[in-house]
Amino acid sequence: MPELPEVETVARGVNRRVRGDRIVRAWFGKRPQTFKTPPSRQARSLAGRTILAVHRTGKHIVFELGAEASAAGAMARQGDANANQAAAPDAQWIVHLGMTGRLLVTTPDAPVAPHTHARLDLESGNELRFVDPRRFGRLEFRNLRSRKDKAFVAPGAEPLTIGAEAFAELFLDRHMPIKAALLKQSLLAGVGNIYADESLFHAGIRPRRRTNRLSAAELERLRLALRQILTDAIRLGGSSVSDYVDAEGQRGFFQLEHCVYQRTDEPCRRCQTPIRRIELAGRGTHFCPICQR
Ligand SMILES: [Zn+2]
Repeated sequence: MPELPEVETVARGVNRRVRGDRIVRAWFGKRPQTFKTPPSRQARSLAGRTILAVHRTGKHIVFELGAEASAAGAMARQGDANANQAAAPDAQWIVHLGMTGRLLVTTPDAPVAPHTHARLDLESGNELRFVDPRRFGRLEFRNLRSRKDKAFVAPGAEPLTIGAEAFAELFLDRHMPIKAALLKQSLLAGVGNIYADESLFHAGIRPRRRTNRLSAAELERLRLALRQILTDAIRLGGSSVSDYVDAEGQRGFFQLEHCVYQRTDEPCRRCQTPIRRIELAGRGTHFCPICQR
């Protein structure tokens, strides 16, 4: 499942290739699970809009969209003040990759993969495709001009920017193991099994430790370790375990830097003790019995 660094990598790659482009027409499949907004409404609403920017919010990829072409043109003609207004997002297209979702920028003649649920034709001649074999991904359209749609806000705090105090507060009074707390998306957005295990290793904390028993110093080590690990992983294009690829279909390289995740019985990179694996919160959990206390 893609975690924060993989989603960030995809969002940056897509942004680089489609920012400023215009959606000419959109085609959506008929598998109902994939669509939080009915596919016919998404197709109709996306056509004609300019992609102002693409970015990550939590584990979601958010497309900030301009007004439909005719309206934007009319506003631009009204003069500078209104033209500036037209650059503020008018709508959002929100993509959640789920477990196996891929967002790819291709040429129209590239073979269409099985399980392609959405295709957006762009003015540049490129095509944006959403492919998702297991269909846990979600596509949603929000019209920010309508009264009932609001701009997307991710559940949970952003681990790259959260401060020491707010971080410690998230874990106050929680009796669950720290590993389970890290996985809770309502607390921190985008941390999954890989980066939970890796950050606990770098912070020197055992995954089973009760959250409310961690000292302020330990929580701060964890916050800094998590930020460092996520930043390093983004720099290396994420971790390609199973089938993750970025917007250009390229694999990431952070899996080569893993210290504990899926290294059961291999020697710890610091102390050579075999890495141990336990089940915790229903997930395989990896740690060094010497380096983590
Ligand atoms: Zn060790």
